[in-house]
Amino acid sequence: MRSHKTPPVAIVGGGIAGLTAARALRERAIPVRIFEAGTELAGLARSFKDEQGFSFDFGAHFVTNRLAAALDMGAVCRTVPRYGEVVRKGGRYSAYPLGLLANPRHDLSAASARLRALFDRTPPRDAAEAFRREYGEAFADEIALPLVEAWAGAPADRLAPSVLQKLPGSILRTLLMRAAGRLTHRAVAIGYCREQPESPHVWHVYPEGGMGALCARLAEGLEETVSLQSRVEKIYVVDGRAVGLRVNGKDFDAAAVISTAPIHVLPKLVEGTDALAPFAAFKFRAMTFCNLHLHGRGLLPDVVVWLPERGFRTFRVTEATQSMPWLAPEGKTTLTIDVGCHAGDAWWQLSEEAVIDRCLDDVRPLVPDVRERLIGGRVLRTPIAYPVFLREYENARRRLSEDGTGVAGLLSVGRNGEFDHLLMEDVYYRTLDRARRLADELRRAPAPRNAPSPTPARRRGKAAVASRAVS
Ligand SMILES: Cc1cc2nc3c(=O)[nH]c(=O)nc-3n(C[C@H](O)[C@H](O)[C@H](O)COP(=O)(O)OP(=O)(O)OC[C@H]3O[C@@H](n4cnc5c(N)ncnc54)[C@H](O)[C@@H]3O)c2cc1C
Repeated sequence: MRSHKTPPVAIVGGGIAGLTAARALRERAIPVRIFEAGTELAGLARSFKDEQGFSFDFGAHFVTNRLAAALDMGAVCRTVPRYGEVVRKGGRYSAYPLGLLANPRHDLSAASARLRALFDRTPPRDAAEAFRREYGEAFADEIALPLVEAWAGAPADRLAPSVLQKLPGSILRTLLMRAAGRLTHRAVAIGYCREQPESPHVWHVYPEGGMGALCARLAEGLEETVSLQSRVEKIYVVDGRAVGLRVNGKDFDAAAVISTAPIHVLPKLVEGTDALAPFAAFKFRAMTFCNLHLHGRGLLPDVVVWLPERGFRTFRVTEATQSMPWLAPEGKTTLTIDVGCHAGDAWWQLSEEAVIDRCLDDVRPLVPDVRERLIGGRVLRTPIAYPVFLREYENARRRLSEDGTGVAGLLSVGRNGEFDHLLMEDVYYRTLDRARRLADELRRAPAPRNAPSPTPARRRGKAAVASRAVS
């Protein structure tokens, strides 16, 4: 006997985006079902703690007090008291952005670039041109472009100019916010969120128990809707509308589907339309994060050291304990070394010991006695750390960001679903907004009750449904 109930909205993925979407729909009395491929929730926002008391994440993570308050978690978050970045060039460190501003060669080159821009209004062709016009050739070629290329894994002339728009706001604003942070002894959030305004009253915090605690809070009350180890294998589209999905070999009806899976995977999941085909070409940068656990503290001149010089395998080394001392036992610290790679390449396949060994060599110019300080290390890898904005698919990327998937009832949300450099606060507010709009649409025009099952007639599409209607 077939059920007469409206099918739930199916959510692909139980990271912060999937959980936020589920909550937003539940608040509007729309039934949901979350399918998570992994053995636990939180996705990229997972935190790890080892037996020696070191905590670490995918990269260094923090959120804002504003997001913590929205999730009613303010009381269980610690304030991050400070945050700072330096750039190392020719063995010398310059504070970002003040120290870099003090370089007269950079200033001169930036001023002449601005002057030229007054007479040349043509849009830049690629990221290299965009950076040179914005910052001048000296700063672009010596600092910004080597970092962008190491981070993206592609030459800047293959990257779209939109890479520049994804970077934090103006230098003046950054300086003002940094000054506010110094006065208040809080790491004021700068360039962190696009959906909500920057303010001296918005600063970084870290939840007790790590980032995963945020997702655990979001998951409260949703327990019976979550299926773990449930990889979505197919999403069925009939007549241009998402109507169901296949999970672990079983088919389900769905009023709509919200996917948080990486966008380049979605076209492979969708059956019944080619609308998403252009998104299959999108590339993500794979990263290894090598966490070196060391004796000592304050080994770097600041929390983050950027390394634009080509001699380094890494482009960034972070000592998160300078911001968040609770991440390591007293008198000890962790350096995180980010190394970009391609999933499956020689670096990706190295053993954990080999990655640690090579990263120790890379860090030696910064911390000469790093090997003597070593307690141990942990390497995290992800094939989907950063979206890479290649020019060759820039039009398709814009289409995704402006029009969505092009399939009714199929949303692609979250950092990798939107193919954007979104941090958790943006993921939260954007997903909330989109899920609420979907809920309103579904309430105006609910999915048909007792809808025919996506299997097998629906999967054959309109013709199969029509032939049954007349039989
Ligand atoms: C290096 C790095 C540093 C960062 N630092 C910060 C920071 O300091 N502050 C901050 O706010 N944000 C930070 N972020 C961003 C933040 O981690 C992400 O924005 C956020 O975790 C993304 O959540 P999501 O739900 O969109 O995606 P994810 O967390 O990737 O969740 C997607 C989920 O979908 C599941 N899934 C995928 N395919 C399927 C399928 N077919 N079937 C079922 N399940 C599937 C996955 O297993 C995963 O659990 C950082 C990100 C990186 C990479």
